[in-house]
Amino acid sequence: MSTQPKRTLTVEERLAANEVRPDRCSHLDLVEPGTCGTCEGRECTRVCPAGTYRWSEEAGRVIIGFENCLECGACRLVCPHANISWRYPMGGMGICYRYG
Ligand code: SF4
Ligand code: SF4
Repeated sequence: MSTQPKRTLTVEERLAANEVRPDRCSHLDLVEPGTCGTCEGRECTRVCPAGTYRWSEEAGRVIIGFENCLECGACRLVCPHANISWRYPMGGMGICYRYG
């Protein structure tokens, strides 16, 4: 019997196992982009496992890279201002989980 500990996949390896077919237009949007400027925690930029939200000082707003979204729904739950407009991508598009 092997005494070697089982190697578990890293988050990056797990993400690489999925297939993403990005929709043509974003399924995520901001209700009022200006609200993010006064949002203290900017929770969306910290909770997303795919790093979809990024605060840009230059643009003065949150930038959304919807292409890598894992459709977990966490962002819309943590936004304290209900400022995220969220829907699933069009049929057949979006994340395709290969290992559950
Ligand atoms: S948590 Fe909501 S209000 Fe705050 S930066 Fe993100 S989207 Fe904007
Ligand atoms: S649904 Fe999940 S993966 Fe997609 S943007 Fe929101 S937190 Fe990120």
